[in-house]
Order: sequence, then structure tokens, then C-alpha cells
Amino acid sequence: MHYGYFNGTILPTDQIGVGVTDLSLLRGYGLFDYFLTYNGRPFQWDWYWERFRNSAAGLRLPLPLSKDEAYAVVMDLIARTEQPNVAIRFVMTGGYSPDGMSISKPNLLILTEAIHPVPPVQYEQGIKVILDEYVREMAELKTTDYKHVIILAEQIRAANALDVLYQKGGEISELSRSNFFIVKGDKLITPNRHILRGITRRTIIELAQADFQVEERPVLLSELYDADEAFTTSSTKQVLPITQIGELTVGDGRVGSKSRFLLERFNDLVANW
Ligand SMILES: *Cc1c(COP(=O)(O)O)cnc(C)c1O
Repeated sequence: MHYGYFNGTILPTDQIGVGVTDLSLLRGYGLFDYFLTYNGRPFQWDWYWERFRNSAAGLRLPLPLSKDEAYAVVMDLIARTEQPNVAIRFVMTGGYSPDGMSISKPNLLILTEAIHPVPPVQYEQGIKVILDEYVREMAELKTTDYKHVIILAEQIRAANALDVLYQKGGEISELSRSNFFIVKGDKLITPNRHILRGITRRTIIELAQADFQVEERPVLLSELYDADEAFTTSSTKQVLPITQIGELTVGDGRVGSKSRFLLERFNDLVANW
């Protein structure tokens, strides 16, 4: 059974309900964050909290809890789950609005969920993504707006792909829910604008410093042609190799040694978290 926190009360998740005048329902006004625990401890808590606070500030929503109070709720929820590791989702909405437009008091949910790990075969073979011309609105905030990729679901399936890589005017930003890297020689290159700044991205950049020359800068579609490797990062995907992008085969089409190396470094870090 999973438990969740809703505006000060902890309940079994299936007993939580949010009312129909909430601005997320009426106007699509909401934000969230999502992270995993390792060894029963929230991974990179300081960084996730900082991002959640930044998303809230961007949507002009006052935080109902301090960082310490939120941490105490997270630890309480972790203690109630029987699983060794769990996913934690923060959701904050515009709250109940008498006129369907103005913000009064946000609603805050903190939920535990089962982790849905990536099937091992995807790490062994790499994944295929399609390309689409799009850039996320308010890309630096983790808002609840994923309409674009949900609409693309059928197209992704039809292409035998698993996700979409967004580009606009030839400049790459990110995948629908994860960040994007390419490897060229000893260079690790990742876009630095029109993206959600992933905590996994930040962790990988830190782990890579000793062995790579890391470049955070605009990345062009044309750079994919001579990339040795490509991969995507997120809390759930960790470091997931990409071997096919639309019609293009990345490098020799196999999972590269540098993607494997960075995934191992990430696994070492979380194993001792
Ligand atoms: C959540 C998310 C990411 C990845 O962030 P992590 O903190 O690494 O999980 C990247 N891009 C988008 C659009 C996201 O929603």
C-alpha cells in the first residue's frame, strides 16, 4: 500500500481526492517533482528541493512547507512503505479558485509510488527515439504539461521507438522527460538551454569531470552525424543509451563504452547513497 500527504494529512493514496475547482483541473496550472530513494534515503534531496522551490516560484505559488518540514514528510512516507526503495512525487497545483482563475492557496501532494525500472534489454541494446520539432513552454520549470508527448504516443509506437527527441530550428533541447548527451572522443556534450535541468544530468556532469571534457552549450542536429554515442538521463532512466534517432544510426549502432562507463559510475554512487 502507498501513502500520500495532502495539505497536512497522511492517508492511503487511494483515499486522496482533489476537488473540482482546482486550477490544475480547470486551467492546467500545476507543477511537480519526482525522485527516487536509494537505501531508504532520498537521492540528491537538496538539489531536488531547490528545483521544486524554483518551479513553485516560477508559477508564483507560495510553498506551504519549509524544506525541513517537507523532508520530515518524505521520511514519514518512506517509513510507511514496505518496499526498500520507492519513488516520491511532489505535486503542487494552483489550488481551489473561486473564480476559476486567481490563485489563493495551492494544494500540495507528496506521494510514494512504485518504481518502474527500465527493462535491462534497453541498457544492453540502446533505444530508438523519433525527432520532433518542438520546444517545451517554460522549459526550466517542471510543470505538469506533457500534452505534446502524449499526443505523439501513437507516432512513437508506429516508429518502433520509445521516446522523442525535441529540436527547434535545428537546435536540440531534450527528450520528453529526460535530458540528452552526446559523446565525441573524450568530449561529453549536452544542451544548456530550453531544457529542464535534470538532477541526473547534474550528477552525471559531476561524475564525468575527471574523465571527460564536459561542454554545456547549444547542440545542433547536425552534430549527431559524427557523434560516437548518445544517451539520455533521468531519475528513472539513469544513463540510458540511444542508438537510433529517427533515420539516423548513432555511431556504430551499438551501446558505447563511455555510456556504459557513466552508467557504472552512477550505479556506484547510488549503491553507496
Ligand atoms: C524530469 C525531467 C527531466 C529529468 O530530470 P531528472 O531530475 O534527471 O529526473 C528532463 N526533462 C524533462 C522535461 C523532465 O520533465
